[in-house]
Amino acid sequence: DSQLNHNYTFESFIEGDCNRVARRAGKTVSDKPGGTSFNPLVIYGGVGLGKTHLAQAIGNEVKRQNPNKAVLYVSAEKFINQFIDHSKNNIINDFIHFYQLIDVLIVDDIQFFARAEKSQDAFFAIFNHIHQSGKQLILTSDKPPKDLDGLQERLLSRFRWGLSADMQIPDFETRMEILEMKMRNDGLEMPKEVVKYVAYNIQSNVRELEGALISLLAQSSLNRKEIDLELAKRVLKSFVKTSSKEITIESIQKMVCEYFDVPYDKLLQKTRKREIVQARQITMYLAKSFTKNSLKTIGEHFGGRDHTTVIHSCQTVKDLMDTDNSFRDSVIELQQKVQLAAM
Ligand code: ADP
Ligand code: MG
Repeated sequence: DSQLNHNYTFESFIEGDCNRVARRAGKTVSDKPGGTSFNPLVIYGGVGLGKTHLAQAIGNEVKRQNPNKAVLYVSAEKFINQFIDHSKNNIINDFIHFYQLIDVLIVDDIQFFARAEKSQDAFFAIFNHIHQSGKQLILTSDKPPKDLDGLQERLLSRFRWGLSADMQIPDFETRMEILEMKMRNDGLEMPKEVVKYVAYNIQSNVRELEGALISLLAQSSLNRKEIDLELAKRVLKSFVKTSSKEITIESIQKMVCEYFDVPYDKLLQKTRKREIVQARQITMYLAKSFTKNSLKTIGEHFGGRDHTTVIHSCQTVKDLMDTDNSFRDSVIELQQKVQLAAM
C-alpha cells in the first residue's frame, strides 16, 4: 500500500505563480521518476501551501502511469517512529531493506529529522541506495534545505544534488480559482462577490481558505440561509486578523504599487517615467474617491506635491479612462480591489 491520498492529484491542484516551478517539476518527475536531474525533488514552504498535496500528486501520477512501481508516502515523523520500533527489536536491517525496495519514496516534513541522529543515519543509507539505483526521492520541508538546522551536513549536501522548489502564498486570482474549484467539486454555489470577499480576506494559506469555506457552509445550513455577503462577513470575522479595515492613502499606495509592480519609493519621487507617472496619478485619483482626505493632504503623501497637482492628476485619469480601454480596465480593477479591501 502506497499510503497515498487519492484526492491529492494534479487535476485538483491549481497552478499559480506561487507554485508554478514546483508543480511543473513535479509533473516532470512523475513522467520520468528517477530519470531527471530533479532527484531529490525538495518542495519547501510554509504551512498549508500545498506541499503534501503536490508531493502526493506526484506519487498518484506515477502510480497511474505505472501501476507496478512501488510508490511510498511517509511522513518523517512516522519514519522516525518506525525506525525506533525496529531498533528496539534489533531489526534495523529489515527496516532499511524495506525502504530500499521503493521506486518512488516520498518523505513529508523532513524538518522533523532534526536531531534524530540515528534516524538520519538510516535515512542516509536509504537515500543513497534509492538514488544510486536510479529511483526517485521526493521530500518536503517547511524551510529551505540550507536552513534545516539539526540535519547532518552529508544529507543536506545530497539534497543539493536535486532541485529545491519553493511554494509561496497564492495571489488573489489563484485563491479565487482554488475556491471556485473546491465549490465545483462539492457542488456548491455562492455569489461571486462572496467568493471574492473570501479570497480577498483570507491571505494566509490554502488550508485556511478551505476552513473558511467549510465554516460558511456550516453556518449557512445551521441558519437555513443562503450564503451571502452578510453571512460571509460574520463568519470571516473569526478568520480575519485585522478588524480595522479603514482605507488610507498608504494602503491605496501599496495596492497600486503591487498592481503595477512599481517600487513604493518610486511612486513618491519625482520620476517622470510614464508608467510611474500614471501609477501615481491613479493612486491620487483613488485616494480622492475612497478617502476623506483633502487634496492638500493627498499631495503631501506624494513627496509634498501641492493640491493643484492632485486636481490635475484626477482630471488626467478621468480623461484617459474615456480614451484608453486598457487604462480604464486597470483603474476599474483597482477600484474593485480597494472596494473589496474596504468591506
Ligand atoms: P502543506 O503540506 O504545505 O501544509 P497541504 O498540502 O496539506 O499543505 O495543503 C493544505 C490544503 O490546501 C489541502 O487540502 C490541499 O488540497 C489544499 N491546497 C493547497 N494548495 C492547493 C492548490 N494549489 N490547489 C488546490 N488545493 C490546494
Ligand atoms: Mg504537509
